[in-house]
Amino acid sequence: MEKQDIKKWDKTVVWHPFTQMKEYAGEDVLVIERGQGNYLIDSEGAQYLDGVSSLWVNVHGHRKNEIDEAIKAQLDKIAHTTLLGATNEPAVLLAKRLADLTRLQHVFYSDNGSTAVEVALKIAFEYWQLKGRKKKQKFVSFKDSYHGDTLGAVSVGHIELFHEIYRPLLFPTYQAPSPRDANGLDWVEDLLKREGGEIAAIIIEPLIQAAGGMIVQPDGFLGRLKGLCEKYDVLLIADEVATGFGRTGTMFACEQEGVVPELLCLAKGLTGGYLPLAATLTTAEIYEAFLGEYSELKTFFHGHSYTGNPLGCAAALANLDIFENEKTLETLQPKIRTMAEALKRLCEIPQVKEVRQKGLMVGIDLGDQPSEKRIAHKIGLAARKKHVLIRPLGNVIVLMPPLSITEDEILFLVAVVYDAIRAILTGC
Ligand SMILES: *Cc1c(COP(=O)(O)O)cnc(C)c1O
Repeated sequence: MEKQDIKKWDKTVVWHPFTQMKEYAGEDVLVIERGQGNYLIDSEGAQYLDGVSSLWVNVHGHRKNEIDEAIKAQLDKIAHTTLLGATNEPAVLLAKRLADLTRLQHVFYSDNGSTAVEVALKIAFEYWQLKGRKKKQKFVSFKDSYHGDTLGAVSVGHIELFHEIYRPLLFPTYQAPSPRDANGLDWVEDLLKREGGEIAAIIIEPLIQAAGGMIVQPDGFLGRLKGLCEKYDVLLIADEVATGFGRTGTMFACEQEGVVPELLCLAKGLTGGYLPLAATLTTAEIYEAFLGEYSELKTFFHGHSYTGNPLGCAAALANLDIFENEKTLETLQPKIRTMAEALKRLCEIPQVKEVRQKGLMVGIDLGDQPSEKRIAHKIGLAARKKHVLIRPLGNVIVLMPPLSITEDEILFLVAVVYDAIRAILTGC
């Protein structure tokens, strides 16, 4: 088997996610072979700074010794066993750790962010059914929200480009205005006043909408939203799949507004970016509504083959240990300031419409570029030539490095992106 075969079969057999394969077929294939710390190394030995944490999952860098060892140790015991009718130690210990960290009481496992959201939606729906408030069946989510690619998650998604074609397949939901403007909360309150009796839950990406283009909410937005949910008896689902595990500067984004949601969705960074694992957390009150005799049919009839996978849970426990042992959240604060300082330069470029940042999540908005010009995509390819890997969202350049990135690496990342934007947009 030759390296060229891998590249050829990649274009002819593998169907890549969120990728126009016709365009991809004309591009150089990048085969990542290894990783070390904040870098990825390709099959030719070239090294790249991982500017988007391997699509927002990696936390402490690649080949992190403690996580590698935790997985190996678990592998020497067992790779997978079920949570249906049995349990395993890593799954139990992780549930306890997550509950303590979030001030929530119960943990339901699945294996990716979309399923974590599906679980939250189904629990919220069924909760009201079990409470006898049978009309509370509807969901509210925000313009530009992204909650995953399965159909329930797409139903509460409001990114036209990704979601519109599937509309006939989806259950209808209320679309609240963009949370970038606090006035949207008046709209939410009006809706809850009128329709609260028919609304099960509001789902939000707290503090910053990620896939929608790194759209930051004004301070106080989440707290006020939680207040409205309480006033009108509607559950709040916090989708922290992207924001969880330090990305916004605190372990979870909700903490910054002192909010404990009724349902919390975690995935991406949960295992430090090593293995697919997700969790949906909830309150004692919701959990208890599902308790009863078997014949009452209150059982939550939901579960996935790899639920509570011990390898994933062992990786997640090691991930949390590193947060404690290395004081990751404390060492993050100067990095966030360095990022903010470095980003200022980007505003000098006339085509840069806005630079948004929350913690180490950054969106550089290039405004309305004609989509056929593929400007942001070309900027990504130009950065790759300079040994930085990024992946834009439409006309927004995204930076979301591992929390382990150093301040020097932040300066390098932003400098490369600055040059790439100038090279593509102004030709100099
Ligand atoms: C990525 C993401 C999801 C979906 O997670 P997958 O693991 O890709 O299914 C859901 N919600 C948010 C906020 C995300 O960023």
